[in-house]
Amino acid sequence: MIKNVYFDVESKKRRELIDITAKLKDIVSKENGSGLINIFVPHTTAGILINENERGLKNDILSTFEKVVPENEKYEHNLIDNNADAHILSVIIKNNSCIPFSDGKLLLGTWQSVFFVELDGPRHRNVIATLIK
Ligand code: ZN
Repeated sequence: MIKNVYFDVESKKRRELIDITAKLKDIVSKENGSGLINIFVPHTTAGILINENERGLKNDILSTFEKVVPENEKYEHNLIDNNADAHILSVIIKNNSCIPFSDGKLLLGTWQSVFFVELDGPRHRNVIATLIK
């Protein structure tokens, strides 16, 4: 069985980590047996990350993004769109993640949360969760 579930995310900042774990837990809660849920972001300036939802760490991740790919650099793409940094970070982060589930529960580690990563917000965004079992 393969099933797509679509949902929206509203970002409020240019770069932002938005925890979507509760939404994903809700999606798998009705599924029995074992399977995988793939989370895919159909955007070129956003991504998906799995890590700890701790305020300081989230700030550290965002400040590291800025060190690795500064917002205000000379990028060729900025001649047409002014968001090259967002595209480049999306390439590094990747736009999907796959998580196993079993009997209605995501098999995440204790400290793992799933984040939608906004890199060029604020925007209205789409996420596609694909259940495979
Ligand atoms: Zn662009």
